[in-house]
Amino acid sequence: MITIILKPKKEESLQRFHPWVFSGAIQRMEGKPAEGDLVEVLDSNRNFLAIGHYQIGSIAVRVVSFENIAINDNFWNRKILQAYVMRKSLGLIVPNYTNTYRLIHGEGDSLPGLIVDVYDDTVVMQAHSIGMHEIRETIAKAIVANVPEVKNVYYKSETTLPFKAAIEPEDGYLIGKETTQLSALENGLRFHVDWLRGQKTGFFVDQRENRLLLERYSAGKSILNMFCYTGGFSVYAMRGGAKLVHSVDSSAKAIDLTDKNVEANFPKDSRHTSFAEDAFKYLNNLHTLNQQYDLIILDPPAFAKHREALRNALKGYKRLNAKAFEFIKPGGILFTFSCSQVVTKEQFRLAVFSAAAESKRNVRILHQLSQPADHPINIYHPEGEYLKGLVLWVE
Ligand code: SAH
Repeated sequence: MITIILKPKKEESLQRFHPWVFSGAIQRMEGKPAEGDLVEVLDSNRNFLAIGHYQIGSIAVRVVSFENIAINDNFWNRKILQAYVMRKSLGLIVPNYTNTYRLIHGEGDSLPGLIVDVYDDTVVMQAHSIGMHEIRETIAKAIVANVPEVKNVYYKSETTLPFKAAIEPEDGYLIGKETTQLSALENGLRFHVDWLRGQKTGFFVDQRENRLLLERYSAGKSILNMFCYTGGFSVYAMRGGAKLVHSVDSSAKAIDLTDKNVEANFPKDSRHTSFAEDAFKYLNNLHTLNQQYDLIILDPPAFAKHREALRNALKGYKRLNAKAFEFIKPGGILFTFSCSQVVTKEQFRLAVFSAAAESKRNVRILHQLSQPADHPINIYHPEGEYLKGLVLWVE
């Protein structure tokens, strides 16, 4: 294994178990690792610090172990089993009720660069680092060996790996074959998950508990689910007894999925209508229609993917939320989210605060929402906290 020696004092973050080594912290490398290779990281006095995957870029090493141990089949089996046992013991996997969850959440499960979502007997695995890409077959075997429900492993990394790397990832089944794709169950609701064509791994598992909360507040209400994607919030709203649900997404494919999912759970239910339209266009048009809702959900895509985009993202959140406040009835509720990792919960709250102040409505925070337990945040890697939500009472 090639050794990487850090500059003096640059070992401190690793001693606090932060899982990244930035390229600027490196003094020298003894040898020339290939991208994706396992490397050993030592401090300037040659004391062992960690083992991780090497990659060219500002994050040079992603740590997989702070112990000096062999990274072999045993290691991967142990890591996958640990992750599964944790989800199981937290009651996140309930036969015939919830079989849709995140098994591996990157740094949150001490496996930077790896995302694994489970949908019934199929998992969708995504590599964000070359190291995880190189080891994909081993990981796939470890998943099938340790998660009893899983038969198929679909690998989907064409768009998540650094495009400059000298690899050509191909999406496809590493183990097993295509299945029905309509057996994903979340809190007793059925979802069609299209991992072949859908965004990310095909379904946003991270909103599961926030959807349940929405269900509780849905009875008798008119509801707008903006940025609906697969219609998750819409289906919960319907089970919660909403009197009307409007789902909006600019993608026609998303609207198709939403319609399918509503139909799968509430066939021929006239309470639901979907619109393939841009969010602002739809909201602006509500003026003309003179329409308001009892409850609005705003779950937009990440407005800021990099730190440079932060200012514009905050403006975007303010503008969007200000628009939503215009169309909430007095005594209505707003569920508003941000999944941008670079936006902190304080910044997001400030953006929503500015929007509320502009609307001159009296607004109270009912709930502050986050990501669920199958998307854990490594305490040593606070950057892993990405999903933020506020539930607001709007007078
Ligand atoms: N709420 C969803 C996830 C939303 S993902 C869930 O619970 O699963 C974000 C969605 O916003 C995507 O489906 C994307 O197609 C849609 N989107 C992106 N830009 C948009 C725009 N300008 N107007 C409307 N929808 C948009």
